[in-house]
Amino acid sequence: MKDDRVKIQGLGVDNLDFESAVKYAENLHGQVVTLNPEMIQNAVKNKDFAKIVEEAELVIPDGIGVELGLIILGHRVRRIAGIEFARKMIDVYSKNGRSIGLLGAKPDIIEKTVANLKQEVEGININYIQDGYFKDEMPVIEELKVKQPDLLLVALGSPKQEELIYKLKEILPKSLMIGVGGSFDVWSGVVERAPQIYQKLCIEWLYRTLKEPKRFKRIFPTLPLFVLQVLKEKFTGRV
Ligand code: UDP
Repeated sequence: MKDDRVKIQGLGVDNLDFESAVKYAENLHGQVVTLNPEMIQNAVKNKDFAKIVEEAELVIPDGIGVELGLIILGHRVRRIAGIEFARKMIDVYSKNGRSIGLLGAKPDIIEKTVANLKQEVEGININYIQDGYFKDEMPVIEELKVKQPDLLLVALGSPKQEELIYKLKEILPKSLMIGVGGSFDVWSGVVERAPQIYQKLCIEWLYRTLKEPKRFKRIFPTLPLFVLQVLKEKFTGRV
Protein backbone atom coordinates (compact mmCIF):
# COMPACT_ATOMS: atom_id res chain seq x y z
CA MET A 1 0.00 0.00 0.00
CA LYS A 2 2.84 2.27 -0.95
CA ASP A 3 0.75 5.43 -1.61
CA ASP A 4 -0.95 5.54 1.75
CA ARG A 5 1.92 5.54 4.21
CA VAL A 6 2.68 7.71 7.21
CA LYS A 7 6.30 8.77 7.55
CA ILE A 8 8.76 8.34 10.37
CA GLN A 9 12.45 9.20 9.97
CA GLY A 10 11.87 9.31 6.22
CA LEU A 11 10.37 5.80 6.10
CA GLY A 12 6.82 4.93 5.13
CA VAL A 13 4.66 2.80 7.45
CA ASP A 14 1.30 1.37 6.41
CA ASN A 15 -1.61 2.66 8.45
CA LEU A 16 -3.70 -0.48 8.92
CA ASP A 17 -5.12 -2.32 11.91
CA PHE A 18 -4.34 -6.01 12.42
CA GLU A 19 -7.41 -7.36 10.61
CA SER A 20 -7.03 -5.05 7.61
CA ALA A 21 -3.32 -5.89 7.33
CA VAL A 22 -4.16 -9.61 7.29
CA LYS A 23 -6.87 -9.07 4.67
CA TYR A 24 -4.55 -6.97 2.56
CA ALA A 25 -1.75 -9.55 2.78
CA GLU A 26 -4.02 -12.48 1.94
CA ASN A 27 -3.49 -12.05 -1.79
CA LEU A 28 -0.32 -9.99 -1.78
CA HIS A 29 3.00 -10.92 -3.38
CA GLY A 30 6.31 -9.49 -2.23
CA GLN A 31 7.94 -8.31 0.97
CA VAL A 32 6.48 -7.58 4.38
CA VAL A 33 8.72 -5.62 6.76
CA THR A 34 7.85 -5.64 10.47
CA LEU A 35 9.49 -2.36 11.36
CA ASN A 36 11.05 -1.69 14.79
CA PRO A 37 13.18 1.21 16.10
CA GLU A 38 16.46 -0.66 15.51
CA MET A 39 15.55 -1.14 11.86
CA ILE A 40 14.55 2.52 11.50
CA GLN A 41 17.90 3.59 12.93
CA ASN A 42 19.64 1.23 10.56
CA ALA A 43 17.71 2.71 7.62
CA VAL A 44 18.70 6.26 8.59
CA LYS A 45 22.38 5.25 8.38
CA ASN A 46 22.17 2.77 5.54
CA LYS A 47 20.53 3.92 2.31
CA ASP A 48 20.45 0.42 0.83
CA PHE A 49 18.44 -0.81 3.79
CA ALA A 50 16.13 2.24 3.57
CA LYS A 51 15.47 1.37 -0.10
CA ILE A 52 14.47 -2.18 0.88
CA VAL A 53 11.94 -0.81 3.38
CA GLU A 54 10.67 1.80 0.91
CA GLU A 55 10.11 -0.84 -1.76
CA ALA A 56 8.43 -3.34 0.57
CA GLU A 57 4.86 -4.16 -0.38
CA LEU A 58 3.72 -3.90 3.25
CA VAL A 59 5.41 -2.19 6.23
CA ILE A 60 3.85 -2.82 9.63
CA PRO A 61 4.79 -1.03 12.87
CA ASP A 62 6.09 -3.77 15.15
CA GLY A 63 6.08 -2.77 18.80
CA ILE A 64 5.48 0.13 21.12
CA GLY A 65 8.64 2.02 20.04
CA VAL A 66 7.37 2.68 16.52
CA GLU A 67 3.81 3.35 17.75
CA LEU A 68 5.16 5.91 20.21
CA GLY A 69 7.36 7.52 17.55
CA LEU A 70 4.35 7.84 15.25
CA ILE A 71 2.24 9.36 18.07
CA ILE A 72 4.97 11.97 18.66
CA LEU A 73 4.70 12.85 14.96
CA GLY A 74 0.91 13.11 15.20
CA HIS A 75 -0.07 9.79 13.61
CA ARG A 76 -2.38 7.36 15.38
CA VAL A 77 -1.25 4.00 13.98
CA ARG A 78 -1.76 0.89 16.10
CA ARG A 79 1.21 -1.42 16.44
CA ILE A 80 0.97 -4.92 15.03
CA ALA A 81 3.15 -7.59 16.65
CA GLY A 82 5.09 -9.14 13.77
CA ILE A 83 5.04 -12.57 15.42
CA GLU A 84 1.22 -12.52 15.69
CA PHE A 85 0.81 -11.25 12.16
CA ALA A 86 3.06 -13.99 10.73
CA ARG A 87 1.29 -16.67 12.80
CA LYS A 88 -2.09 -15.46 11.52
CA MET A 89 -0.82 -15.58 7.93
CA ILE A 90 0.11 -19.25 8.47
CA ASP A 91 -3.53 -19.94 9.44
CA VAL A 92 -4.87 -17.94 6.50
CA TYR A 93 -2.62 -19.69 3.95
CA SER A 94 -3.35 -23.10 5.45
CA LYS A 95 -7.14 -22.64 5.08
CA ASN A 96 -6.81 -23.15 1.35
CA GLY A 97 -3.80 -25.44 1.39
CA ARG A 98 -1.33 -22.93 0.00
CA SER A 99 2.31 -23.92 0.53
CA ILE A 100 4.51 -22.49 3.27
CA GLY A 101 8.30 -22.27 3.50
CA LEU A 102 10.25 -21.73 6.72
CA LEU A 103 13.80 -20.43 6.54
CA GLY A 104 16.00 -19.54 9.50
CA ALA A 105 16.93 -20.24 13.13
CA LYS A 106 18.99 -23.12 14.48
CA PRO A 107 18.38 -26.64 13.10
CA ASP A 108 16.76 -28.02 16.29
CA ILE A 109 14.60 -24.89 16.59
CA ILE A 110 13.21 -25.12 13.08
CA GLU A 111 12.55 -28.83 13.54
CA LYS A 112 10.53 -28.19 16.71
CA THR A 113 8.74 -25.26 15.07
CA VAL A 114 7.65 -27.46 12.16
CA ALA A 115 6.46 -30.22 14.52
CA ASN A 116 4.45 -27.73 16.62
CA LEU A 117 2.89 -26.01 13.60
CA LYS A 118 1.88 -29.37 12.11
CA GLN A 119 0.08 -30.19 15.35
CA GLU A 120 -1.59 -26.81 15.70
CA VAL A 121 -2.62 -25.92 12.17
CA GLU A 122 -5.09 -28.04 10.29
CA GLY A 123 -4.28 -28.48 6.62
CA ILE A 124 -0.83 -26.88 6.88
CA ASN A 125 1.28 -27.55 3.80
CA ILE A 126 4.97 -26.94 4.55
CA ASN A 127 6.93 -27.53 1.36
CA TYR A 128 10.27 -25.95 2.28
CA ILE A 129 12.41 -26.05 5.46
CA GLN A 130 15.91 -24.67 5.87
CA ASP A 131 17.80 -23.61 9.01
CA GLY A 132 19.50 -20.21 9.09
CA TYR A 133 23.11 -21.29 9.47
CA PHE A 134 24.03 -22.13 5.87
CA LYS A 135 27.39 -21.05 4.47
CA ASP A 136 26.48 -20.70 0.81
CA GLU A 137 23.35 -18.81 -0.24
CA MET A 138 23.25 -20.17 -3.79
CA PRO A 139 21.88 -23.69 -3.05
CA VAL A 140 19.26 -22.12 -0.78
CA ILE A 141 18.13 -19.80 -3.56
CA GLU A 142 18.17 -22.64 -6.10
CA GLU A 143 15.96 -24.85 -3.94
CA LEU A 144 13.53 -22.00 -3.29
CA LYS A 145 13.31 -21.37 -7.02
CA VAL A 146 12.06 -24.94 -7.44
CA LYS A 147 9.79 -25.08 -4.38
CA GLN A 148 8.09 -21.65 -4.87
CA PRO A 149 6.32 -21.57 -1.48
CA ASP A 150 3.26 -19.31 -1.51
CA LEU A 151 4.23 -17.94 1.91
CA LEU A 152 7.86 -17.75 3.01
CA LEU A 153 8.80 -16.84 6.58
CA VAL A 154 12.42 -15.80 7.02
CA ALA A 155 13.94 -15.80 10.53
CA LEU A 156 17.53 -14.59 10.20
CA GLY A 157 17.33 -11.40 12.31
CA SER A 158 17.53 -7.93 10.79
CA PRO A 159 18.92 -6.79 8.34
CA LYS A 160 19.90 -10.25 7.02
CA GLN A 161 16.31 -11.39 6.57
CA GLU A 162 15.17 -8.20 4.81
CA GLU A 163 18.20 -8.29 2.50
CA LEU A 164 17.61 -11.92 1.55
CA ILE A 165 13.87 -11.40 0.97
CA TYR A 166 14.64 -8.38 -1.23
CA LYS A 167 16.94 -10.54 -3.31
CA LEU A 168 14.30 -13.28 -3.53
CA LYS A 169 11.56 -11.02 -4.92
CA GLU A 170 12.62 -11.72 -8.50
CA ILE A 171 13.05 -15.44 -7.91
CA LEU A 172 9.75 -15.87 -6.06
CA PRO A 173 7.47 -13.37 -7.82
CA LYS A 174 4.28 -15.01 -6.57
CA SER A 175 5.29 -15.49 -2.91
CA LEU A 176 4.50 -13.40 0.13
CA MET A 177 7.66 -13.13 2.26
CA ILE A 178 7.84 -11.94 5.85
CA GLY A 179 10.94 -11.32 7.98
CA VAL A 180 10.02 -12.80 11.37
CA GLY A 181 13.13 -12.29 13.57
CA GLY A 182 13.08 -14.55 16.61
CA SER A 183 9.56 -15.98 16.00
CA PHE A 184 10.71 -19.56 15.36
CA ASP A 185 12.49 -19.55 18.73
CA VAL A 186 9.13 -18.78 20.34
CA TRP A 187 7.06 -21.17 18.21
CA SER A 188 9.52 -24.00 18.91
CA GLY A 189 8.71 -23.61 22.60
CA VAL A 190 12.39 -23.00 23.39
CA VAL A 191 12.00 -19.26 24.10
CA GLU A 192 8.90 -18.11 25.95
CA ARG A 193 6.90 -15.10 24.88
CA ALA A 194 6.41 -12.59 27.70
CA PRO A 195 3.37 -13.24 29.92
CA GLN A 196 0.13 -11.50 28.85
CA ILE A 197 0.53 -8.76 31.46
CA TYR A 198 3.82 -7.63 29.86
CA GLN A 199 2.21 -7.81 26.41
CA LYS A 200 -0.77 -5.72 27.58
CA LEU A 201 1.44 -3.09 29.21
CA CYS A 202 3.58 -2.98 26.04
CA ILE A 203 6.72 -3.87 27.98
CA GLU A 204 7.45 -7.19 26.32
CA TRP A 205 10.93 -5.83 25.58
CA LEU A 206 11.49 -5.41 29.34
CA TYR A 207 10.64 -9.07 30.00
CA ARG A 208 12.92 -10.25 27.20
CA THR A 209 15.72 -8.05 28.52
CA LEU A 210 15.33 -9.36 32.07
CA LYS A 211 15.41 -12.93 30.78
CA GLU A 212 18.31 -12.29 28.44
CA PRO A 213 20.38 -9.44 29.95
CA LYS A 214 22.71 -9.32 26.95
CA ARG A 215 19.81 -7.77 25.00
CA PHE A 216 20.13 -4.73 27.31
CA LYS A 217 23.12 -3.47 25.36
CA ARG A 218 21.08 -3.67 22.16
CA ILE A 219 17.87 -2.15 23.47
CA PHE A 220 19.04 0.43 25.94
CA PRO A 221 20.81 2.97 23.77
CA THR A 222 18.41 2.29 20.90
CA LEU A 223 15.04 3.19 22.40
CA PRO A 224 15.87 6.51 24.12
CA LEU A 225 17.99 7.56 21.15
CA PHE A 226 15.17 6.71 18.79
CA VAL A 227 12.71 8.84 20.78
CA LEU A 228 15.21 11.74 20.75
CA GLN A 229 15.64 11.44 17.00
CA VAL A 230 11.88 11.45 16.47
CA LEU A 231 11.54 14.53 18.71
CA LYS A 232 14.21 16.24 16.61
CA GLU A 233 12.27 15.29 13.47
CA LYS A 234 9.08 16.75 14.98
CA PHE A 235 10.62 20.07 15.96
CA THR A 236 13.03 20.63 13.08
CA GLY A 237 11.34 18.62 10.33
CA ARG A 238 14.72 17.04 9.62
CA VAL A 239 15.82 13.43 10.00
N1 UDP B 1 19.60 -16.44 12.92
C1 UDP B 1 19.87 -17.32 11.87
N2 UDP B 1 21.03 -17.19 11.18
C2 UDP B 1 21.93 -16.24 11.46
C3 UDP B 1 21.65 -15.32 12.52
C4 UDP B 1 20.47 -15.45 13.22
O1 UDP B 1 19.07 -18.19 11.57
O2 UDP B 1 22.96 -16.19 10.79
C5 UDP B 1 18.34 -16.58 13.66
C6 UDP B 1 18.47 -16.80 15.15
O3 UDP B 1 18.75 -18.16 15.40
C7 UDP B 1 17.09 -16.37 15.62
C8 UDP B 1 16.65 -15.35 14.57
O4 UDP B 1 17.65 -15.39 13.56
O5 UDP B 1 16.20 -17.45 15.53
C9 UDP B 1 16.48 -13.94 15.02
O6 UDP B 1 17.29 -13.58 16.05
P1 UDP B 1 17.05 -12.31 16.96
O7 UDP B 1 16.26 -12.69 18.16
O8 UDP B 1 18.38 -11.68 17.16
O9 UDP B 1 16.16 -11.37 16.01
P2 UDP B 1 15.31 -10.10 16.35
O10 UDP B 1 13.88 -10.55 16.29
O11 UDP B 1 15.69 -9.58 17.71
O12 UDP B 1 15.68 -9.20 15.20
